[in-house]
Formats: sequence, C-alpha cells, structure tokens
Amino acid sequence: MSIEFWPEGKVAALSLTFDDARPSQVDHGLPLLDSYGVQATFYVSIQPMRDRKTEWKQSIKNGHEIGNHTFNHPCSGNFSFARNKPLEEYNLEQMRDEILKANSCIEQELGIQPKTFAYPCGQKFVGRSKDVRSYVPLVAEYFLVGRDAFNEVPNDPTFTDLAQVTALDMDDVTFETVQQYLDYARKHNSWLIFLGHEISHQGKQTVNISVLEKLCQFLKDGDIWVDTVENIGTYINQKRSI
Ligand SMILES: [Zn+2]
Repeated sequence: MSIEFWPEGKVAALSLTFDDARPSQVDHGLPLLDSYGVQATFYVSIQPMRDRKTEWKQSIKNGHEIGNHTFNHPCSGNFSFARNKPLEEYNLEQMRDEILKANSCIEQELGIQPKTFAYPCGQKFVGRSKDVRSYVPLVAEYFLVGRDAFNEVPNDPTFTDLAQVTALDMDDVTFETVQQYLDYARKHNSWLIFLGHEISHQGKQTVNISVLEKLCQFLKDGDIWVDTVENIGTYINQKRSI
C-alpha cells in the first residue's frame, strides 16, 4: 500500500477508543487528553453516561466522539454479568432495538447522533448453533463504522470492512507494547485503533495513565494522524470512493 493514502505526509492513523463510560475516563482520561489536544472516541453505556452527563456534553465540545455501545451491553452468557440476557438468546430484531434505543438515549441526553458503534465484548452474533446470525449487517445499516475488539492486527485502510474494524487492547499494557503496535502501523501504513476501559494508575481492565501520557507526548507533531473513529472512517470512505 502506498504512503500517499494518508493526508499531509502522515504515514499511519490512530484512534483511541474507550468503552462503557467508566467514571475514570471522565476523572482522569478526558483532562489528560484535553491537555494534549488529543481527540478520542468513547463508546458509552447509558446509565454511567447519564451519571456524568455534564462532562460528557463538554467532551463533545472539546472534539471527542461519543459512539453507540448498545443499551444493555449484551454479551455471551459465558460472562456471568450477561447471563440474564445473553446474546445466545437474542434475535436480530431485539438487537436492532438495543441499537436504536441507545441511539435515542444518547441523542436525548447529549444532543448528538452517534455515527459509529462498538460491539460489546467484541461479539457480533445473536442466537445459538444453526440459528446463529451475524449482526454486522445491522451495524452497517445504521453506522459509518463498527469497531471490533481484542484483535491482533490493525486495519489496512484500503481493504478493511468499516462495519467491523479491528481494535487492539490497550488495557494493562506497557508503553513498549504500545510502541511495537505503532511501529507495525507505521511500517504498514495502517489505521490502528486502541481500545481501553478504565484510565487510572492501577487495576484491572485499565489503561495506565502514565502509558497514555507517554503516548500523547510521543504523538505530538509526529507522523501519525490521531483522530476519532468517525473522522478517520469518513476520510477512508471518501478516499476509497475517488
Ligand atoms: Zn463494553
């Protein structure tokens, strides 16, 4: 792939994404990102978003993106938290309701329409066995981009399916690991998407604050384009249609 794909001499693109509207994202993440002028995408769960509505509204004014992460966060019943309403017992119409209900709550609370979506737990199916159906086509119907999770390689922007773009886990990793991913993205002119949950000093499912800060410093005036999933997805769509 040619380096000319990306704008203004950039060699790769990066989106930072954080899921579930965890309070630590508001308390630690947004102030840090804002101090570096780095814009990220937040796939919000509805109740925690409502609990910090003022800050999430402000985040949109500061250029961050708010995306859809469904209303009830359905995942496989193998997760104990999901057992009372597991994906194995969903059908496509229920999933459509999940998506539309979350969209209308976000619109009502924050005054914007989400343009991108993140699959809860990175799982993209409903039903069981011979009745399993993919809900990727539903996501493609309503959103510019659907973000997968826990993948191994970043996206080739000339090839990737925008309805299920890959994302690499940034929880609990060192800056050296982050740098290895960035090196790969540079070498292959990729769109790298990171996903994380908490933003804090320690704990499970946590992007370490000092790793995030180092990353922000590293990206400053560099050759990687850092922007929201919506903005980079829009660019890729336009570039491919030329
Ligand atoms: Zn989630």
